[in-house]
Amino acid sequence: MLHIGLHFLVPLGVALLFYRRYWVKATFILIVTMVVDLDHLLADPIYDPERCSIGFHPLHTTPAIILYGLMFLIPLLLKSKGETLSHQSGQGIIHLVGLGLLIHMLLDGVDCMF
Ligand SMILES: [Zn+2]
Repeated sequence: MLHIGLHFLVPLGVALLFYRRYWVKATFILIVTMVVDLDHLLADPIYDPERCSIGFHPLHTTPAIILYGLMFLIPLLLKSKGETLSHQSGQGIIHLVGLGLLIHMLLDGVDCMF
């Protein structure tokens, strides 16, 4: 249960810390990325508390995680100096989706260690 709670609390914390001007929308986008867990539907059983998601489900594998990293980084690299990413631009939204997915993978990964 703690794990599920973290999937809500960490995005909220990150949004408040780093995207304060539009933290409600940022929290929303970060939490929506949890749909990545739909790949669990391909697995049998769908949910197994003993299983580590990372490296098992297709959207939780290394190539997917690299893609999420790029989604997070490229908008940062493309924006002009001094400009802040806007949550109203496609780039800003891709950045947040990438970040949400990275947070998700991190939390799932931490879960695998225990
Ligand atoms: Zn997951």
